[in-house]
Amino acid sequence: MIIKEINVKNILTKSNLPIAGYSINPYVGCTHACKYCYANFMKRFTNHKEDWGTFLDVKYWPKISNPHKYDGSTMIIGSVTDGYIPQESKYKRTRQFLEEIKGANINLIITTKSDLVLRDLDLIKTFPNPLIAWSINTLDENFKMQMEKTTSIARRIEAMKICHNLNIRTTCFISPIFPGITNVFEIMDKIKDYVDYIWLENLNLRGDFKVKIMEYIKSNKSDLLPLYESIYNKGDMSYWIKLDKEVKEYAFKNSLEYVIDKEPFLKEVRGKPIIINYFYHSDIKQSAKK
Ligand code: SF4
Repeated sequence: MIIKEINVKNILTKSNLPIAGYSINPYVGCTHACKYCYANFMKRFTNHKEDWGTFLDVKYWPKISNPHKYDGSTMIIGSVTDGYIPQESKYKRTRQFLEEIKGANINLIITTKSDLVLRDLDLIKTFPNPLIAWSINTLDENFKMQMEKTTSIARRIEAMKICHNLNIRTTCFISPIFPGITNVFEIMDKIKDYVDYIWLENLNLRGDFKVKIMEYIKSNKSDLLPLYESIYNKGDMSYWIKLDKEVKEYAFKNSLEYVIDKEPFLKEVRGKPIIINYFYHSDIKQSAKK
């Protein structure tokens, strides 16, 4: 692992994500090294030639002097890294950011695959209505280990329960959904009592990780290869259309709200979770009409 400490001009980046005004990434790179990581495009912008997951730049920035300047905005920690990678225990850069922005009236969203976020609950609780999202795409710890160098699924679910019991809003981000591997319903059964939102996102294969994932399927799950070829080489949407329908039925059976909207996760909910679908939905709707 190559670790460097670097100075940056600003830790806040204007975000073009539909869900946030600013993104905060206290590190360049991510040692969780997920094989399917969409953020590995960051290598191009940061002149890193090393493999994704084998380098880390630890950011130092000028202190935020007036947190109230950001009142009313939404901030997401961890759009192209995870603010709670193991190295955060030592460098505490995510914690530093929270300390600097403390007191601002912001919508704080944290996305992570770790339970280290529990360390910072003292600060997180001081924001008006924070939301912590844990990504999970399997309950199979072996598959998880083949795909990511992350905290166990069991520990992530435990962290969700702790936060839910403390009335901190929680999301289970079922992402990416691996066709034929991710059992969305098994995961929803396991977590639905501890979350406010369930976000669903399909596996989207592009760039150099497409080759890696297709190789993995060929070597480890060859029975699924025809399915992956039809989805990712021929653009067949039927798997997602069918899954969308099944999730709708699951939601109905369990009296859960099911929406295909980008924003409602910010509205107040308590009680049963809202399922939010982030599949390529306009494409699905068009295909379903044919
Ligand atoms: S945790 Fe997120 S940012 Fe980090 S490697 Fe995995 S997918 Fe990429």
